[in-house]
Amino acid sequence: MIELTNIEKRFGDNVVLKNVSVDMPEGTVTALVGPSGGGKSTLLRCVNLLETPTSGSVRIGEDVLTFSPGTRVGWADIQRLRRQTGMVFQNFQLFPHRTAVENVMEGLVTVLRWPAERARARAMELLEKVGMAHKADAWPATLSGGQQQRVAIARALAPSPRVLLCDEPTSALDPELAEEVVDVLGRLAREGTTMMMATHDLRLASRVADKVVFLDGGSIVESGPPGKIFSQPERERTKRFIASLN
Ligand code: ADP
Ligand code: MG
Repeated sequence: MIELTNIEKRFGDNVVLKNVSVDMPEGTVTALVGPSGGGKSTLLRCVNLLETPTSGSVRIGEDVLTFSPGTRVGWADIQRLRRQTGMVFQNFQLFPHRTAVENVMEGLVTVLRWPAERARARAMELLEKVGMAHKADAWPATLSGGQQQRVAIARALAPSPRVLLCDEPTSALDPELAEEVVDVLGRLAREGTTMMMATHDLRLASRVADKVVFLDGGSIVESGPPGKIFSQPERERTKRFIASLN
């Protein structure tokens, strides 16, 4: 179980997340949708603690960290929680001077200190899962955007995180290439990968998410199953946003 409770995040006087609480039972997919600047990326970054919440708590499995202004949370605690997450970015962010398989091995070898042989075997398994085993020795620059993103997903999954965080995973891709990434994320979802993703790709959210959370101005406006939020939203703000996407 992953649980965000009463998360507030301020940058100076700017409150960008207000009292946000989200429960993610293991094996479920949560999609964050909403207008640009609504706080989706910041919320994802609060889950892996790339941003420190101003207040509130983050639980991943048995580990809970509670934040409040003026209280410092230890670096070791932050690292422990962060290692239970994997992150996929809009622009893939593969290491350009490492091959596909080396990208997937990197964290296992440098952070977790796995022997190279074992890391390579695990990396090949994951490349197989995302349909990229045949490109194991390719350089990132020679891969399409969809292929790079599939390698990035394999890399994020390598240390077996409890939750996969994806920030606009299909936004930089043409529709056809987005489709292959949606397919991979859909397969991972069916296999029970716990995921939280920010997206404005309604096709991705409808196909993959169990729950959609609509964030605007740093607050949750409403949440529910994709069928409900996309077809019968209750709040006027949500209706306008959904209409603007069609
Ligand atoms: P979204 O991903 O929904 O577009 P963001 O989480 O990126 O929204 O941004 C939410 C708000 O937080 C925006 O107003 C943005 O300018 C602000 N913000 C994000 N990161 C920072 C930062 N590092 N410093 C100051 N303000 C930030
Ligand atoms: Mg964003």
